[in-house]
Amino acid sequence: MTANEETLGFQTEVKQLLHLMVHSLYSNREIFLRELISNANDACDKLRFLALDAPDLMESDSEMAVRISIDPETKELVIADNGIGMTREDVIQNLGTIAKSGTAEFIKNLSGDSKQDANLIGQFGVGFYSAFIVADRVVVRTRRAGNESSDAIEWSSDGDGQYTIKGIDKADRGTEIRLTLKEDAGEFGEAYRIRHLVTKYSDHVSIPVYLKNEVEKDDDSEAKSEWDQVNQATALWTRPRTEITDEEYNEFYKHVAHDFEDPMTWSHHKVEGKSEYTGLLYVPARAPFDLWNRESPRGLKLYVQRVFIMDRAEEFLPLYLRFIRGVVDSSDLSLNVSREILQKDARVEAMKSAVTRRALDMLAKLAKDDTEKYQNFWETFGECLKEGPAEDHQNKERITKLLRFASTQTNTEKQEVGVEDYISRMVEGQKEIYYLVSESHTNALGSPYLEAFKKRGIEVLLLSDRIDEWLMGHLQEYQEHKFVDVTRDGLELPGEGKDEKKEQKKESKAHKELLKRMKEALSNEVEDVKPSVRLTDSAAVLVLTEHDMGPQMRQIMEAAGQAMPVSKPILEINTDHGLLMRLESETDAGRFNELARLVFDHAQLGAEGKLDDAPGYLKRVNALLTELSV
Ligand code: ADP
Repeated sequence: MTANEETLGFQTEVKQLLHLMVHSLYSNREIFLRELISNANDACDKLRFLALDAPDLMESDSEMAVRISIDPETKELVIADNGIGMTREDVIQNLGTIAKSGTAEFIKNLSGDSKQDANLIGQFGVGFYSAFIVADRVVVRTRRAGNESSDAIEWSSDGDGQYTIKGIDKADRGTEIRLTLKEDAGEFGEAYRIRHLVTKYSDHVSIPVYLKNEVEKDDDSEAKSEWDQVNQATALWTRPRTEITDEEYNEFYKHVAHDFEDPMTWSHHKVEGKSEYTGLLYVPARAPFDLWNRESPRGLKLYVQRVFIMDRAEEFLPLYLRFIRGVVDSSDLSLNVSREILQKDARVEAMKSAVTRRALDMLAKLAKDDTEKYQNFWETFGECLKEGPAEDHQNKERITKLLRFASTQTNTEKQEVGVEDYISRMVEGQKEIYYLVSESHTNALGSPYLEAFKKRGIEVLLLSDRIDEWLMGHLQEYQEHKFVDVTRDGLELPGEGKDEKKEQKKESKAHKELLKRMKEALSNEVEDVKPSVRLTDSAAVLVLTEHDMGPQMRQIMEAAGQAMPVSKPILEINTDHGLLMRLESETDAGRFNELARLVFDHAQLGAEGKLDDAPGYLKRVNALLTELSV
């Protein structure tokens, strides 16, 4: 060991990931080349960007490239770039640890089933470490642009838990990665194979990728070699749409998003006029492991006039579209734009609204063209989209059209019904879109609130995700169709008119005494007691006045530590129900109160799926059962 040599252990997560990766990505191991070329390309992008302010960093070599060569003797595969390079600290940080938050949990959740894990690991992004799928030894030699040649670093590892670094001398800036191929990975030491893979995976990489060709020795000259450019090296998004194949779009996505799977769909557009930009947006096929982590990086890769500016610029998409990946390339922004500027620039705001529109159009098109795929999309990212109506008023109608719900019309918990389907099935005279929010789909299905709707054949949307009540708080209407909560007081069903009103009045009169007594007995629990016209089987329901907060929302707010004003619901009773008839004829005041409370308990259970006074309820039911069995 030389004086400056140091052996260090990988972070635990790296060790675990390396192990899993080598095992689960075996059948897909050629992707290592795409990962390494992507990193090399990123390193060149970064240098080009920094050199805008510090041209000296380019030294005397301003033509960025990736150079791949195969050592004819050892068959080692070498991938070199003249990008930004790394310092000693960079090397330790980047090639010894994983900085993504949530990594440990992610690894814990892998199943051990190599096929399944392969997909998940792909989603996580393996990057540099994928070299160990094909190599049993990896040596990285790197010098940060602008540093002395004697400040270069060599990193080497067998991928078995530790790595060694030492100082070296390296004349050219950038990074060179040397792979000693595993015995069964000899194919990657063949030029034709590498050439094929570069064309397959990295054709669109915007800098040239060269492959070294060995040329036969002439009689008296040295062995000559020449560099062959293998890829097209034009940034994909700058090419006309018609000339780009689906295959190329797919590969470019994998490069941008560091994903292993093809995307679900994409949108590529050039916008000219007031603000000029090109956008290439993708919807991934699978949710990233950190979709629900608010601090996770998100956003698009930003270029200005084809010069890479930053990864994951958040400013071009709203939060509810955080799952979208891709590129924006602006012609208007200045090259030295910073995050601070992005946040304030009016042109960025305008671009954001245009990009958002494109993203929503892309989803609408997917919904229209391919229901099955859209269903997949919805199951993967629907909950994000549900944040949309609250976040983005301007596009509320567009987002609403993209939402999918469970409904009384479909025999499934799956959210498959859109507002357009719903509207097309409205019954004669129906104007409003009815919905029910409840704790769970099962609770919703058995809900007494649905009785009147079933009787009339009216469809009701059933919502039971945590976010739903909040979502519905922001959805007032869609194309003049109001969203109406079926648990609210004052419902007027289609076809229901004067007759029902008259009926309700008549009922009120006929059962005046009962209503009065119940209201007295339940004065702490309810605001009022009214006869119901919507119940057929159940004894009673609780309804809320228009402005009250629903039970789900109340629970969320209370869980967040917010004290909520108590608003009492209205109890609607079914006077034809046996229990109510029994109550009506009850003369004993104590018994009446107990039974009235039981009616309320049942109504509460139906509405909220739980009781305020469970022990009291049990006592009351027990008393009743005992009485019955005597
Ligand atoms: P990711 O690219 O997803 O960040 P990687 O494991 O592929 O993850 O790489 C980790 C980091 O190592 C990169 O973010 C980059 O900073 C650095 N790196 C990798 N390859 C190179 C390279 N060829 N030149 C300079 N830096 C590199």
